[in-house]
Amino acid sequence: MSIAENLARIANDVSMAVARRRQGVSGTGTQVKIVAVTKNQEAAAVREVIDAGTASIGENRVQEALAKAGVLDRRAEWHLIGHLQTNKVRQAIPLFELIHSVDSERLAREIDQVAAKTGKRQDVLIQVNAADEDTKYGITAGGVTELARMITRLEHIRLCGLMTIAPFFPNPEDARPVFKTMYDLFVALKAMQLSNSSIEWLSMGMTNDYVVAVEEGANLVRIGTAIFGPRH
Ligand SMILES: *Cc1c(COP(=O)(O)O)cnc(C)c1O
Repeated sequence: MSIAENLARIANDVSMAVARRRQGVSGTGTQVKIVAVTKNQEAAAVREVIDAGTASIGENRVQEALAKAGVLDRRAEWHLIGHLQTNKVRQAIPLFELIHSVDSERLAREIDQVAAKTGKRQDVLIQVNAADEDTKYGITAGGVTELARMITRLEHIRLCGLMTIAPFFPNPEDARPVFKTMYDLFVALKAMQLSNSSIEWLSMGMTNDYVVAVEEGANLVRIGTAIFGPRH
């Protein structure tokens, strides 16, 4: 299967999953953004996926993204989906449209300060460790409200929603409760009507579990393997 065929199949799966949503799951709209995760892929693969119709590119590492963006002769909307160290913020801000991985007050403050200097307002998501796994970055579900309030007091950073990486289950159905929790958190966050925010993205779902994630309200999925095949 080509990258274009894979993308078409995923887009079809996604729209069928939207159609299967229960009535209560309407808070994230019916449009789902597919972010192509290009970590460990060459710049040529990034070009190919853009030409196949996806302009949203997800990378885990700042350095890797910068290297590809530097040689890519195409426009793209870059998403930082991996953990961000405070000492990489300076390099990250100019490239990324949306940073999915804000999980501490310290990181939010650093982003705000660097963005202020470059005259940017940086869009971010709060990363939630919804299943409370030791191995994952992200704040616990109980910490979302406090971090959200803190972020929205900063002028050069704009909170746009939530992101999670669900635990890997051989049967993706087992991840459904995690996605439900995230949807409820998203709706509650939106209801807070915090100033200086635009709560619109619920980023969840990867190759193994995106269908279940979309059924439970994801409106941004991050997909690598199902588009490009196994990573090298
Ligand atoms: C690698 C990665 C993905 C994509 O994973 P696949 O299983 O290849 O679709 C999505 N989100 C994050 C945060 C990742 O690190």
